[in-house]
Amino acid sequence: SERTLVLVKPDGVSRGLVGEVISRIERKGLSLVALELKHVSKELAEQHYAEHAERPFFGSLVEFITGGPVVAIVVEGVRAIAAFRQLAGGTDPVEKAVPGSIRGDFGTEVQYNLVHGSDSADSAKREIDLWFPNL
Ligand code: ATP
Repeated sequence: SERTLVLVKPDGVSRGLVGEVISRIERKGLSLVALELKHVSKELAEQHYAEHAERPFFGSLVEFITGGPVVAIVVEGVRAIAAFRQLAGGTDPVEKAVPGSIRGDFGTEVQYNLVHGSDSADSAKREIDLWFPNL
């Protein structure tokens, strides 16, 4: 069993998709270990997306993530990291995410792709420490 960090991004929260995302996590057989509605500081956003610091969309990504509350969730279960990536679908909601995935069912734009999930065991550890330092 392993843990992953899931975010319902500001677009997902404002569109009322928090329950939908949690419901899919639970129906997949994964468990919720910690959950918080959080207003994200610029510092936290920049640390979370540090690997994208040199990308042209970095400024706009940080602005987006800090633009409204997110729901941060620590999810646990067998193969939780890959399992949530599968639930989320590919980064581009139209070209990559398939119907039946969260992004494939509800998204259209690459930036406003509703959810985040850690992409490896190393990122999961780093991100859980960053978002839930007391866990
Ligand atoms: P996440 O890390 O949020 O789960 P991901 O791993 O599917 O997403 P990354 O390539 O790590 O995708 O990009 C991180 C986030 O940056 C994306 O989820 C998306 O919100 C945003 N993003 C990625 N590419 C672009 C782009 N070309 N233009 C605007 N925003 C982008």
